[in-house]
Amino acid sequence: MPNINLLARSRSAVWHPCTQMKHHETLPLIPIQRGQGMWLYDFDGKRYLDAVSSWWVNLFGHCNPRINTAITLQLEQLEHVMLAGFTHEPVVQLSERLAQLAPVGLGHCFYASDGASAIEIALKMSVHYWRNSGRPHKSNFISLQNSYHGETLGALSVTDVALFKGAYSALIKQNATVLSPDWRNAESGESARDYAVRCAAQLETHLQQHHHNIAAFIIEPLVQGAAGMVMYHPAYLTRARELCDQYDVHFIADEIAVGMGRTGTMFACEQAEKSLGRDSTEEGVSPDFLCLSKGLSGGYLPLSVVMTTDTIYQAFYADKVTCGFLHSHSYTGNPLACRAALATLEIFEQDNVIATNRNKAVYLNRIAEPLRDHPRVKNFRNTGMIWAFEVDSLYDDFAQRCFSLALEKELLLRPMGNTIYFMPPYIISEAEMDMLVENTLAIIAAII
Ligand SMILES: *Cc1c(COP(=O)(O)O)cnc(C)c1O
Repeated sequence: MPNINLLARSRSAVWHPCTQMKHHETLPLIPIQRGQGMWLYDFDGKRYLDAVSSWWVNLFGHCNPRINTAITLQLEQLEHVMLAGFTHEPVVQLSERLAQLAPVGLGHCFYASDGASAIEIALKMSVHYWRNSGRPHKSNFISLQNSYHGETLGALSVTDVALFKGAYSALIKQNATVLSPDWRNAESGESARDYAVRCAAQLETHLQQHHHNIAAFIIEPLVQGAAGMVMYHPAYLTRARELCDQYDVHFIADEIAVGMGRTGTMFACEQAEKSLGRDSTEEGVSPDFLCLSKGLSGGYLPLSVVMTTDTIYQAFYADKVTCGFLHSHSYTGNPLACRAALATLEIFEQDNVIATNRNKAVYLNRIAEPLRDHPRVKNFRNTGMIWAFEVDSLYDDFAQRCFSLALEKELLLRPMGNTIYFMPPYIISEAEMDMLVENTLAIIAAII
């Protein structure tokens, strides 16, 4: 029984993330032997539909043949070389390709290995930019209420989730938060857009008072993931971009979760109107820093990137060493990870993924009517390939119960509080969407 053995060994030798290990005295770990497409298989041949893309990273399924091939070919040529003083084809190609795809003006790519490190880089670059520009007092940040930007110390300083932050407050710099444009908090009769504009007015007040000391405003565009898939109107992004320009504050778009097609466009920032004026037809705002990770490598290898502008880049370009951005990680720009990312981008193009996803979203929204109308379901919402809703439940441990019941029904769901969300790989078929909705309804019915 490799199964039982593996569980016991894992519990004693592996400290699992985001987990109270004692809970595994009663809750079993799920040992996974292999993955194929939408499905994960355990050692007994039981399978689970990966409806959360393995923590939001997997875009085109497990063991995707095209990504496997790309990594294998690269493996035979060069597995890794340091990126300080050296370069290689995959990292150059990826940087050029990303610059073509991203909102205009983001021509410089700085790499790291995970999302939180990308956030650290953006925060440090922003402060260092102002320092190099003779404005060293601009060193604070603003984020949204309930924001999540990762769990290293700098990233926690712009994260507003008490559970992740509380124990470390002595280590963390205090930064301000402003109202989240979460449309669930709109007054009755107030549209999501009006509420977004009203929240942006609060950001304006804050900037008016504090802009002298503020380096950057950081935001998860369109969807605040870890807050429970909080969704808001893109007008907020438009207004926030205008305000950041007006008050000389950088705009950091954390698209670690929402980038790579997740919200229905390649990048979420594309969905904001250029300006809120009535005649504005041009779409998209460009951030000063765009952070990507999670889906960037198709869910294969740890890779993140911070893309930034020529203005920022030039402020570091000088004879003096200390003016340069001296940040580094050992695995910066790893060739295997870059190849996985290039293969991922190629699939987007070859399979016309953005358009195909639009049809899939229409289908899922149609078959999800019974969920939307369910008497115990509230705030059913969708942005691109993300769905979420709250379930009325008397149980404090709703998330855990739902997770366990889902496994019995061949589903990997990982609710946050009483919010159930779907964030499936883009290869999900209509039959799999049917199964997802049907089994979710059965789970809700079973948790009275
Ligand atoms: C996951 C996530 C991060 C952190 O990425 P890690 O790779 O887990 O460090 C940062 N920001 C957002 C919006 C995320 O969803």
